[in-house]
Amino acid sequence: MGNFADFHARSIQDRDAFWAEQAQLVDWKVKPQQICDYSKPPFAKWFVGGETNLCHNAVDRHLAERADQPALIFVSTETDHEKTYTYRELHAEVQRMAAILQDLGVVKGDRVLIYMPMIAEAAFAMLACVRLGAVHSVVFGGFASHSLATRIEDASPKVIISADAGSRGGKVVAYKPLLDEAIALSAHKPAKVLMVDRHLADFTPAAGRDVDYATERAKHMDALVPCVWVESTHPSYTLYTSGTTGKPKGVQRDTGGYTVALAASMPYVFEGKPGGTFFCTSDIGWVVGHSYIIYGPLIGGMATILYEGLPIRPDGGIWWRLVERYKVNVMFSAPTAIRVLKKQDPALLTKYDLSSLQALFLAGEPLDEPTAKWISEGLNGKAIIDNYWQTETGWPILSICNGVEKAPSKFGSPGKAIYGYNVKLVDDQTGEELTGANQKGVLTIDGPLPPGNLQTIWGDDERFVKTYWKTVPGKLVYSTFDWAVRDEDGYFFILGRTDDVINVAGHRLGTREIEESISSHPNIAEVAVVGVADPLKGQVAMAFAIAKDTSGLTDATARLKLEGEVMKVVDTQLGAVARPSRVFFVTALPKTRSGKLLRRAIQAVAEGRDPGDLTTMDDPAALQQIVEQIKG
Ligand code: AMP
Repeated sequence: MGNFADFHARSIQDRDAFWAEQAQLVDWKVKPQQICDYSKPPFAKWFVGGETNLCHNAVDRHLAERADQPALIFVSTETDHEKTYTYRELHAEVQRMAAILQDLGVVKGDRVLIYMPMIAEAAFAMLACVRLGAVHSVVFGGFASHSLATRIEDASPKVIISADAGSRGGKVVAYKPLLDEAIALSAHKPAKVLMVDRHLADFTPAAGRDVDYATERAKHMDALVPCVWVESTHPSYTLYTSGTTGKPKGVQRDTGGYTVALAASMPYVFEGKPGGTFFCTSDIGWVVGHSYIIYGPLIGGMATILYEGLPIRPDGGIWWRLVERYKVNVMFSAPTAIRVLKKQDPALLTKYDLSSLQALFLAGEPLDEPTAKWISEGLNGKAIIDNYWQTETGWPILSICNGVEKAPSKFGSPGKAIYGYNVKLVDDQTGEELTGANQKGVLTIDGPLPPGNLQTIWGDDERFVKTYWKTVPGKLVYSTFDWAVRDEDGYFFILGRTDDVINVAGHRLGTREIEESISSHPNIAEVAVVGVADPLKGQVAMAFAIAKDTSGLTDATARLKLEGEVMKVVDTQLGAVARPSRVFFVTALPKTRSGKLLRRAIQAVAEGRDPGDLTTMDDPAALQQIVEQIKG
């Protein structure tokens, strides 16, 4: 198609002309008058004056050409259910859902929180919200009541959409009790809760509040609910993500910029074509699920697979069987999932006809070289494309863009800076730009952030500026909080976070949140949580805690009992996803003389590495205790 370096350079140097062209990939009710308003850095407004609708671009506009082509393919290996919705059928379902939401009083700008398993109704719910101009906030189904309550309180939704239960590995996971508890914990109460009853778990509806989806849907079978045209800058959704404090941040996304960014990514990054099939194995609770299970493929006129189940059930061939059956062209998963598959029979990778598959994209955490090699060889040399991004950015920052110019992948690297991203490596101490090859720096992005990136933190502009834009000395630049190097060919290598965020099986967690949860146990005085390297999950959380009353902790059984109790606290408050792999009990934590926790030293020791310079440490015996605990 062209030369990637020129394409990228143009996106930065001739920014407005570049994005004006991309804006033509989507439908506008009113064309934008200004491409980018960056008069108040770091707040960027994209496609100002334009009016559009995300649901229109994902669904309605395809009706003329592909009404009878598949749009949403729901597959559950948990409930043995498979159903394909054509664009026409998806359109009808979304309108039914939108009509129900209207009945419940939802109007433009209202928030709707979605706490649902991976079922088709979750997709209808998201699309119905943006159809009405309501702002959805999907909360990952693996989060428990405390995490959910924090998000309910921050988003203050008028309506919550949920389900009786999900299912994992054949076991029913009830959602309703967690939701009820979260609503009880939250100061904000939703007016209504719309319940999709899958008949997996019994529940008692809350009188006057809970509404049954099937009953309401039956009243709206012929619903015609037009799209509400919204300003390009109107928020489409918020999605909470972890940072260094205990309070998650609501990443706020616009409408027009996001629609254009995803539309452009389909041909340039993913090479997804209208009429093709996209299979993203993420969860709708994560940003990858928002962008590449729901919006991206649909905006691109593709069929998208929404999969409820494990990658190894009924066997490790299930995903490849789906690739064969639905002629998947583009697949998107996470390194963790591939490491899980690595333990299965490799013959399962070649048992099915994968001729339709163009490439496998992997993101969310570092892709280690052995895993990349294993899957690349197992799939007979299909392109394996590591791409790097964040909840904040909404679409990849680094990748190979084979749709622009074919380029080889390098194992261990997510590739180059994508068009629109003015990526720079900087020295964290001086703020100086590092232009030489293989110099380690913080990966930053010069403003304006391209379309589709976060507009702000929901309800907290100040936190947005302070968190992301004020960490590099002397410069207003966006920090990704990732260390990286760039080689002589412009390929980046990500070296880990600069902050206390950890990445467990692609799930981003703040150690502070886990520490706060553990500290709520009545017998815990103080705790440090660090991320420790793990061959399967990339990282796992490990806790080192000081008990208030140590008298009963003299034997291993008592320590195990308290460890179990602490894990239970995290399970019930945050969800099993945040549960530490181990909780060790110590009598002191390694700190500097000024009282700052030496997390890096704890982490190094927990990983069996040299802790480095310890001259500022107050009490060396504290670190020694950790060494001994790890040795067991
Ligand atoms: P999340 O916001 O949950 O998507 O997490 C974003 C973080 O995950 C990034 O800041 C990185 O630390 C990490 N990450 C995402 N993709 C990659 C990748 N391809 N390689 C290395 N780290 C990644």
